Amino acid sequence: MYLKIKIEWRLLNYVHQLDKLINRDNCTKIIYNCLILKEIITPKKRMADWETDVNRELDIDDWLDDFKTIYKCTTSTKLRNFDYRFRIRDVLTNTRLYKMGISSTEQCYLCGDKESIIHLYWECEYNKRLWERLKNIISNANLQIPNKSECMLGRDEESTVEDIVYLLCTITKKFIHDGKCNKLKPNINRLISNIISVKDSEEKLARKKGKDKYRDFLKNWGKINLI
Ligand SMILES: [Zn+2]
Repeated sequence: MYLKIKIEWRLLNYVHQLDKLINRDNCTKIIYNCLILKEIITPKKRMADWETDVNRELDIDDWLDDFKTIYKCTTSTKLRNFDYRFRIRDVLTNTRLYKMGISSTEQCYLCGDKESIIHLYWECEYNKRLWERLKNIISNANLQIPNKSECMLGRDEESTVEDIVYLLCTITKKFIHDGKCNKLKPNINRLISNIISVKDSEEKLARKKGKDKYRDFLKNWGKINLI
């Protein structure tokens, strides 16, 4: 059965379910359950939509490989799951809800423009303030400031954006997502609190895991000043 699944689906599920599949003898069941839960649009369509949104040509193998990036950046299951859903564009926007007949409008809940993914997560004037603050934090840490494509999907082959920067971008996107779900106006102080909360969790876990992990934590987070 597994071999009959399209190669891109196999890769996608493999990446997403990596943690669950290791050392498990019921991996066929896990893959099957995952497949029936997912929508039937192929990842290629989603990749093409990203190409339009971020003006970047994506190679399918590289794109699928990038799903692993977040696993290097954080131990947070919530952020890992969100990153996966964001990459396959499985996030709620009024454009999508309108098509589904759930929302009566396609308008952005913040500004009134059409609420597409790229509008809500990047172009919306309200959420732009969050990105500006984040860029400020990254710049103060003397790290490379990510561009639109890197904020949305992480680094491309020529980029030197560090994992910690992509993690900060993912926290920001998750913050925008939570704001949308709860119909909240973006607030920079709440974003900073969220980042501090992730940092504290990573630090706690790193201390538990020993010296090497704690050194890695300091290397990643040491330059980031959130005051
Ligand atoms: Zn807007």
